[in-house]
Amino acid sequence: MMTPITYELIKTDKQTGARLGRVHTPHGSFDTPTFMPVGTLATVKTMSPEELHSMQANIILSNTYHLWLRPGEDIIEEAGGLHKFMNWDKAILTDSGGFQVFSLSDMRQIEEKGVHFRNHLNGEKLFLSPEKAMHIQNALGSDIMMAFDECPPYPATYDYMKSSVERTSRWAERCLEAHKRPDTQGLFGIVQGGEYEELRKLSAQDLVSLDFPGYAIGGLSVGEPKDVMNHVLEFTTPLLPSNKPRYLMGVGSPDALIDGAIRGVDMFDCVLPTRIARNGTCMTSNGRLVVRNAKYARDFSPIDEHCDCHVCKNYTRAYIRHLIKCNETFGFRLTTYHNLHFLLKLMEQVRTAIKDDRLGDFKEEFFEQYGLNQENPKNF
Ligand SMILES: [Zn+2]
Repeated sequence: MMTPITYELIKTDKQTGARLGRVHTPHGSFDTPTFMPVGTLATVKTMSPEELHSMQANIILSNTYHLWLRPGEDIIEEAGGLHKFMNWDKAILTDSGGFQVFSLSDMRQIEEKGVHFRNHLNGEKLFLSPEKAMHIQNALGSDIMMAFDECPPYPATYDYMKSSVERTSRWAERCLEAHKRPDTQGLFGIVQGGEYEELRKLSAQDLVSLDFPGYAIGGLSVGEPKDVMNHVLEFTTPLLPSNKPRYLMGVGSPDALIDGAIRGVDMFDCVLPTRIARNGTCMTSNGRLVVRNAKYARDFSPIDEHCDCHVCKNYTRAYIRHLIKCNETFGFRLTTYHNLHFLLKLMEQVRTAIKDDRLGDFKEEFFEQYGLNQENPKNF
């Protein structure tokens, strides 16, 4: 199958097996492993596209479900697609809406045809199906689209998970059939199966036989312990073709990013860095820093002395704390910029370490420093 999304494997790390690669899209290429900032409503909250460019973000994620409800995919299509609508000329990945249907709405009814549920804003009845999810993402014009899948809660029984995986495979086939723009938009399949190795195998086999240009690993980071996630990754990534990108959905803490890369993941996304930023929490090379805490009222040092972002060069903890305490938008912009810059820089360091065959050593060095002064290491 011809595809607008291609993956180039540059090399693997001799210490860990992590992959250094490059993904090519109709809106430019990006190096992997990479982290994708989340722009739910066609904006990475408080960041301008110019600011995202300046921190070398080359791909962002946007949410089909939210854009379907507001402003509606027809308006975005009329604007010339999501790239034009939001003035972002680099790559965009859109999810399928499935995760929001299963996480935001409690009144849902799953049928073979699709899912009935209620709008989380006004309670109105809605229906989302593989065909509808493809129609919306085709209208948005994202470079990478995601297949509509079922994301079962954790934990789920083996029997439930098995029937869910089988349905997700049938839905994936329907997504491929309904996808109207395969020349300009690449569709990724999503491997499900929870913590069950046999079901991950079944799901991967089904999806790989459909020959998607890339694969996501779904159903992780849904409340399972960290060692379960790492274990699932260990037996799932080897099931996926080595010449296609692999995307772990909903993961954005520094430890999970490094652990995921070590297990062969290329792409990650999460609202964590932007969400905690608006709450006055920063990611730093010394661990998490809650800048709104009283002890920073007279601290005129930068958020992270090892960070070279423009926020750390020009603004102090005391000033940022003051802005956030007063709910000033500028404060949220500063912490958001720093957190995204921190994660994008971390991924750049990961790529350099893979290039030098020393990701195992880098992980040790990073956490030796990261573990210091952590105010709440488990919460990250
Ligand atoms: Zn910084």
